[in-house]
Amino acid sequence: MEPGVIKKLDKVVVNRIAAGEIIQKPANALKELIENSLDAKATQIQVTVKSGGLKLLQIQDNGTGIRREDLPIVCERFTTSKLTKFEDLSNIGTFGFRGEALASISHVAHLSIQTKTANESCGYKASYEDGMMKGTPKASAGNQGTIITVEDLFYNMPQRRQCLKSPAEEMQKICDVISKYAVHNSSVAFTLKKYGEPPILRTTGRRTRDCNIADIYGTQIGRSLLPVELEDDVHKFKFTALVTNVDYSEKRGIMLLFINHRLVDSSALKAAVDSVYSTYLPKGMHPFTYVSLEITPTHVDVNVHPTKHEVHFLYEDEIIDKIKRRIELKLLGSNTSRTFYKQL
Ligand code: ADP
Ligand code: MG
Repeated sequence: MEPGVIKKLDKVVVNRIAAGEIIQKPANALKELIENSLDAKATQIQVTVKSGGLKLLQIQDNGTGIRREDLPIVCERFTTSKLTKFEDLSNIGTFGFRGEALASISHVAHLSIQTKTANESCGYKASYEDGMMKGTPKASAGNQGTIITVEDLFYNMPQRRQCLKSPAEEMQKICDVISKYAVHNSSVAFTLKKYGEPPILRTTGRRTRDCNIADIYGTQIGRSLLPVELEDDVHKFKFTALVTNVDYSEKRGIMLLFINHRLVDSSALKAAVDSVYSTYLPKGMHPFTYVSLEITPTHVDVNVHPTKHEVHFLYEDEIIDKIKRRIELKLLGSNTSRTFYKQL
């Protein structure tokens, strides 16, 4: 048999494949958009969804906005206002998208941006396809901030669309992402609603993190929370957490983990926390934990691919061990007071 002829794939196809790997479901896209709004210092973030985010995913914020002159390139791959040189990558400390989020979304959905900065007298609106702006920005009314509208996600990837779960399940994942960001960013007002319906989730931006946890995850969890903190000069990290006491347990177990303010997963940390609780909780039961870890940016492995939610950091074992002991101490403390209380 003759060998196959090797041809270069069309650029648009290559970009679409790459984008489809980064944006796997509506909730991934939303996470990136929320992070952009937070990076733009928004204090109000409103998300509107149709059909689990597949028909419409819109996020409106009151952040800095995007400069008119940046609109033509904002959806090109590797365009960002957040870093300019390679060394910035390690200082910024994000497990970031390095200017890939908007580009990726524009390759797999219809994307439009409406935005206004404080310095401009009016706003502008532009639409994008495959990383490029279509036409020129049109003047538009509007308040300071940005509205990103994503429609018909995966319209050009029918197989991907078929693989997705039902709109209700995608909606659940969207709700999950917003819930977590709303807890971590308790001074930001978040709203989530289905198009044309009243809000499903709403935080005011004026309540404590504990209150937001109680509102979103239930008063029983809210009542069981213990604050745990640790600052460590040796391995240069700061740990802030709210964890349920030993009187609370659930089958599923929920961990909200933020490292340098990005929502991530760390199975090592999760296993460590679970192991602390295993002495106290009935077999097969787990705690609710909210954990925020701030690590010196240079200790974060920025080479992690954007799609990887699972992260690693320098001195991981040592840091996890210290966190584990700290939580253990807290639980021991709360446990004794409980015994004492019972003896009364
Ligand atoms: P990155 O966040 O890694 O820079 P993105 O593709 O997510 O890459 O965004 C590209 C750029 O678009 C950002 O650097 C920022 O300047 C601008 N941008 C995106 N979303 C917003 C927003 N909601 N408000 C203000 N600027 C934004
Ligand atoms: Mg981004």
